[in-house]
Amino acid sequence: MNGPLAGKIPGQASRASAPDDAAYPASGDRAADPGPPATPGVSGVSGAPCTSTLPADMLTVEQLRLELERLEGTSGYNIEAAYDRAGKLERIAEELGEVELELRARLIQIDVRVRGGELTSVVSIVWQINQWALSHGCRPLLSRSHLLMARVHRDLGDLASALEHTVASVEALDEDTPARIRVYHLMKLADILDETGSLEASRERYQQAERLAATIDVERHVTVLNNIAYAEYEAEKPELAWAVIERMLALSTTHRFELDATVLDTVARVQVALGRYDEAVMTAQTAIQIYDSQEMKQADALPEALLTLAVAQRLMGATKDAQESLDLSRTMCDEHGYLRIRLRVHQEQAELHAATGDYRKAFEAYKAYHAFEKELASQQREAQARTRQAMFEATEARQEAELFREQARRDPLTGLRNRRYVDEHLPALIAEATATGGAVTVAIVDLDHFKRINDTCSHDVGDQVLVAVAEMLDATPSCNGFAARMGGEEFLLVLTGMTPTEAVVRLEDLRASVAARSWRSLTGDLPVTVSIGVTASQPHSTQAELLALADANLYTAKHKGRNRVCATSGTALTERRRHRDIPLPPHVR
Ligand code: GH3
Ligand code: MG
Ligand code: MG
Repeated sequence: MNGPLAGKIPGQASRASAPDDAAYPASGDRAADPGPPATPGVSGVSGAPCTSTLPADMLTVEQLRLELERLEGTSGYNIEAAYDRAGKLERIAEELGEVELELRARLIQIDVRVRGGELTSVVSIVWQINQWALSHGCRPLLSRSHLLMARVHRDLGDLASALEHTVASVEALDEDTPARIRVYHLMKLADILDETGSLEASRERYQQAERLAATIDVERHVTVLNNIAYAEYEAEKPELAWAVIERMLALSTTHRFELDATVLDTVARVQVALGRYDEAVMTAQTAIQIYDSQEMKQADALPEALLTLAVAQRLMGATKDAQESLDLSRTMCDEHGYLRIRLRVHQEQAELHAATGDYRKAFEAYKAYHAFEKELASQQREAQARTRQAMFEATEARQEAELFREQARRDPLTGLRNRRYVDEHLPALIAEATATGGAVTVAIVDLDHFKRINDTCSHDVGDQVLVAVAEMLDATPSCNGFAARMGGEEFLLVLTGMTPTEAVVRLEDLRASVAARSWRSLTGDLPVTVSIGVTASQPHSTQAELLALADANLYTAKHKGRNRVCATSGTALTERRRHRDIPLPPHVR
């Protein structure tokens, strides 16, 4: 469904969104000197020129990644084909179990929908993807989703939020980001700074982008120059804009690089602003012809060029031709929902009636223009409110999901971590210890004769004992070590940031504290003690090995009479055993 808020901000429509979105393709994707396209487009959608010819189900992960990158760079072109292909790639990524790539493919489809005017309906999905990327540290996806959020906000007329998201998209880049993607983001930032009126800051970013683009290829260089020219034109500096255009034309000639319809539209507009109406007419006509033969078609380039042509024709005095061009542009806007261009068509219609001396019609057209502008503004305000609500809900949902995730990793009775948490975190701690040359100490703590407590007192008292022991266990680890309940009356302690020898001292203190605590109010005459089996990681130990060793030592501790710490015969621990004679003296009854 096409929403009412398609297109762009009035007066911004010809920003070179075609080439600017072309900054993503992998280098060599579109030749720097392409000459005439090899396969001319058919009825506006020329297949998927930016996609590989491999059937989607034969892609490897790397091919999938590259194709997604190309599609991301060309999502403004041939959008129906891009949409279909991205849908296929999403399914392939899902089959391959590549969640990040799946989400990138989904973002491409959403990008296409946003270009078709769907703004508020997609915002919560984009935001959810953004939040997912944030919590999973996926920088390319994070950056890309911020950029899409920026587009949605810009199209809703909320430039401040658009700027925020664009800045965030740049911040999400890292040193691994390829230059072509960095150029794209720098230019997007320059564009939005320009739109928010920060011209100096914008020029600075454009210069950075140009320097970088010049090192990549002529296509990107032309893209950046086009956007600079457009920004100067918007700032009512047509002479400055023309100087940039001359550099662009020189590049195009030197490298036999064909300028596309969007770039030519910029040229035509600047020619209008300089009063060179006949040249502007020719340029706009060329833009329209080129659009037909262009392989890569940007959706709104044609109504834009037709509108520019109408303006130039009116100013030349060719009002009949101007009316024809304007009618064509209007029809396309109405068909595709390009409301921002449609607004300018209204405005131009009033100018055109005035130029033919029909002031009554001109007045009516002005009234229609202002009514349309008001309607657009109120739709934007409503849509902005809905967008904020959708983002709020998505954030809430993420927080709830995080809470749920946290709860799912805790034991409900004692509040300690559970087995699931152990499985998710212990391997990383072992790997870290291996990498840093340290060791993780792992201890299984089991309550002695716990069944007796249950049987003699009650299950409820048993629970209270478990909770009390759990509290003492929880206070034992430091750094990123932790205590977990593995099930029943069996616990795990993971001790980091200390040598195994130090860890055993701490475990012995724990054992002694449990035994020395007064349990009388809970269990009467029944003592509460624990047996502890300990081991420490060696380089490349596995979790399973460590748990098995600790369990074997626990068995030894039980066998030797309970209420004791029994450590493995690893070097550091053996030493400890020699000095402190572990297993330690049994509990005195
Ligand atoms: P040992 O010294 O050899 O470890 O003897 P034990 O009695 O502690 O060990 P055993 O495995 O025979 O019994 C463990 C008991 O712990 C049996 C089970 O009913 C009890 N238990 C397991 N989970 C819970 C719980 O959540 N609450 C309570 N109150 N008891 C539990
Ligand atoms: Mg037990
Ligand atoms: Mg047990």
